[in-house]
Amino acid sequence: MINLILFGPPGSGKGTQATQLVEHYNLFHISTGDMFRSEIGNKTELGLLAKSYMDKGALVPDEVTINMLKKRVEENPNVKGFIFDGFPRTVDQAIALDKMLADKGTPITALLELVVPAEELIVRLMNRAKTSGRVDDGKPNIIKNRIQVYRETTAPVANYYAEQDKTYKIKGLGSVEEITEQLIFTLDSALTAG
Ligand code: AMP
Repeated sequence: MINLILFGPPGSGKGTQATQLVEHYNLFHISTGDMFRSEIGNKTELGLLAKSYMDKGALVPDEVTINMLKKRVEENPNVKGFIFDGFPRTVDQAIALDKMLADKGTPITALLELVVPAEELIVRLMNRAKTSGRVDDGKPNIIKNRIQVYRETTAPVANYYAEQDKTYKIKGLGSVEEITEQLIFTLDSALTAG
C-alpha cells in the first residue's frame, strides 16, 4: 500500500498532479478543499461553517477537518492506497493522520512537496480565478493570507515528516508532464531505496 501526501502552497499544482499520480499508482484521491467545496455546494451545515473560514483564506478548524477526513478514509477500507491533497495542513492534523494510519497498519510512504516561488503562485492563482469560480482565488489580500498561513502553520508539516525521512522536495515549475515525471521518479527511487 502506498499513502502519499501531495504538499505545497496554494497554486503549486497539487490538484493537477494528484490527478496524474492517482492514475499512475492507482490510488484513492482525497482533497479536503474539494470536500469542503462540495459541502458548500450542497449547502450543508459543515459547508456553511467551512465557507466562513475559506472565504478569508483561513484554515478550517482541525477538529472539523480531521473528523471529515477520518470518515472518508473509513468509508474506503479496500483501496490500494491514498493520496492526500491539501491535508495535513497543520502538525496536529499530521499527528492525527499518522495515528489513524497506524491503526490501519499502513503508514505514510512519502510527502512530496512542490516548491514554487511566491511571485509565481500569485500569478497562477490570479489566472486560475478566471475559470475556477473560487472566491478565494483572484483577490490579492486573500491570496496573501493563504500564502502566509502556509508559511506559518502548514510548512512545519514538511519538517515533521522530514524527521521521519519521508519528505521529498520537487521543483514545481515547468510543464505538467515534466513535473509528473519528476514526482514519479522521486517516489519510485524512494520506494526502491526503502
Ligand atoms: P484547497 O482547495 O486545498 O486550496 O483548500 C481551500 C481552502 O479549504 C483552504 O484555504 C482552507 O480554508 C480549507 N481547507 C482545505 N483543506 C484544509 C485542511 N486540511 N485544514 C484546514 N482547512 C483546509
